[in-house]
Amino acid sequence: MNEITRQNKFFTAYAIAPGVTRIQGLALENCYLVEGKERALLIDGLTGIGSLRAFVREMTELPLTVALSHGHLDHSGIAWESGWVYVHPDDVILMRTKEMSGVQERMDFVEFYHSLGVPFRTEVGKEDVLPPRPLWTLPLRDGDILDLGGISIEVVGVPGHTRGSLVFLDRFHRCVYAGDACNANTLLNLEASASIAEYKKSLEHFLTYEEEFDVLWSGHDCQAVPRSIIRDGIALCERILTRQDDAIEVEDRFGGKALLAARRREDCSVRRGGLCNIVYRPETIFENPRPEL
Ligand SMILES: [Zn+2]
Repeated sequence: MNEITRQNKFFTAYAIAPGVTRIQGLALENCYLVEGKERALLIDGLTGIGSLRAFVREMTELPLTVALSHGHLDHSGIAWESGWVYVHPDDVILMRTKEMSGVQERMDFVEFYHSLGVPFRTEVGKEDVLPPRPLWTLPLRDGDILDLGGISIEVVGVPGHTRGSLVFLDRFHRCVYAGDACNANTLLNLEASASIAEYKKSLEHFLTYEEEFDVLWSGHDCQAVPRSIIRDGIALCERILTRQDDAIEVEDRFGGKALLAARRREDCSVRRGGLCNIVYRPETIFENPRPEL
């Protein structure tokens, strides 16, 4: 299953399992709608261009819980429509920054993907972007359970990409909705990222759930990846920590320098990193610099 079930000019919905829908936004970012017997859960909320709430409401009338994997602009857009979200407290300040909530910043984000060749079904104007508004954030942490009636989703903390990154374990469908926590281009070079040492501990914690699911659905890929990506990620962190990774210098999207841990094959698949690859900054391998006055 991964077939289009609904589409408008901003969003495309794909059925990925009975009662589970992947919804893709203009920049090919994903969020996930999981429907239980009593509630529905929207995990992440795209970039906040067009009414995601109206699109979701065409699919379910169940009471809706909205939870974020992390506070980046391409996941938290629904917040500016719903006015409240569950999010890890460590990402609340991040999601409220101008970089993550500004109308122009979110326009620029989708335009960047458009410039890379992602086709749009519409011209995007400022009037399509949901402006920031007062926001009620509810804390969500490792170990929390979201009960949807017949389906319980467990929250697992995986600090790394951001310090408040969460993944959502769905034992019923034997999958995890992983946001940007672990993938073939895991960005740990961002201001809000944790160190490689801390990220390795996060993946080791995540690994303790390994027997309870088969695949991960991510914030940007169109297909699920097998759970072995977690072990690949731990092994790659170990190589970075012992300075035995490929450490290819790359330019990040913001013009800064970063290192790519595993050399890619020409077909873009990852070589020494298995399914996982990591972009990081050499100065934050062991710890993040501490702020000083
Ligand atoms: Zn992100």
